[in-house]
Amino acid sequence: MHSINSESELSKIMIEMHQKPFRAKQVWDWIYNKGCKDFSQMSDLPADLREKLSTTIKIPRLINNKEMVSKDGTMKWLLALDDKNEIETVFIPELKRSTVCVSSQVGCTLTCTFCHTGTQPLVRNLTANEIVSQVMLVKDKIEDWPASNEKKLTNIVFMGMGEPMLNYENVSNSIKILMNENGLRYARRRITVSTSGLLPQIEMMAKDLRVKLAVSLHAVNDSLRNELVPINKKYPIKDLMAACKMYSNATGNDRITFEYVMLDGVNDSDYDAKSLVGLLRNIPSKVNLIPFNPWPGSPYKCSSKERIRRFAEIVERAGYMAPVRVTRGQDIMAACGQLKSESLKVRKSKIS
Ligand code: SF4
Repeated sequence: MHSINSESELSKIMIEMHQKPFRAKQVWDWIYNKGCKDFSQMSDLPADLREKLSTTIKIPRLINNKEMVSKDGTMKWLLALDDKNEIETVFIPELKRSTVCVSSQVGCTLTCTFCHTGTQPLVRNLTANEIVSQVMLVKDKIEDWPASNEKKLTNIVFMGMGEPMLNYENVSNSIKILMNENGLRYARRRITVSTSGLLPQIEMMAKDLRVKLAVSLHAVNDSLRNELVPINKKYPIKDLMAACKMYSNATGNDRITFEYVMLDGVNDSDYDAKSLVGLLRNIPSKVNLIPFNPWPGSPYKCSSKERIRRFAEIVERAGYMAPVRVTRGQDIMAACGQLKSESLKVRKSKIS
């Protein structure tokens, strides 16, 4: 069975099946515009073609192994891939918008010390099809078909398991599917890719996609950032900030979002806040202050409410938005930095 990882891939499969180009367009419309999950329902296709398609192409959906609903309405799914590896996807409904947080890898190669996913070594990259399938699942759940400009699922953030920039090609292909005007039709400003700061890929994204960029900053000097976000040893803060400035220029002065997790006594002093303001100079930016969400064995504590308030005040006085992110889904371990699956354990038990 083929999975669809791009529009051209679908066209190629259809050509191999000796179909005219308009048939590929019809199938694309059924899958990505109408949200159809069954070839037998594609009423404008000949019956024999529908039958053939059902044994040739896999409609993008993943197996839902577990669904959890938080008391605040946040939902989290543990989804199984074809090879039985598992990932987590989170849906965050809000008053005026709703967001899906998608995973881009099973586990992660980076080992950011405040992040639960970082304790799960990389198992593999997700395909474009597996990434898009997470969005499709949420659209099914909240009945957001057909795709239109009036969407219930308004925003897509690549902030789930994995470092999206280390799976650039598949992430890029998935974003092209999400933005396709004959399908899901997400505007580039509705999609945010969050990175710990891989400079070559930020440059590629500035040329290729120009979606919104979020950077996991978390520290204002290299010695602390080397510890919290070890990729900083390769791409230090000065170079990262220069890349952010370049990215903002390339996107017509779009604001870069800087994620900053509040760790008690580690990165939350007035001096840190002032240094942060210094780093942001000349970069259109916004800071998201994230109260640390503990996970089993985590080595940090969250800063006090008063400390977070004071930190935010310093950043805001300098003219930058610095909202404190409302923690969502903590009771189901769906909050920022808490995602992790058991995929490695499953692999180990298979080996033994
Ligand atoms: S913060 Fe992102 S890049 Fe860092 S370990 Fe967690 S998932 Fe990986």
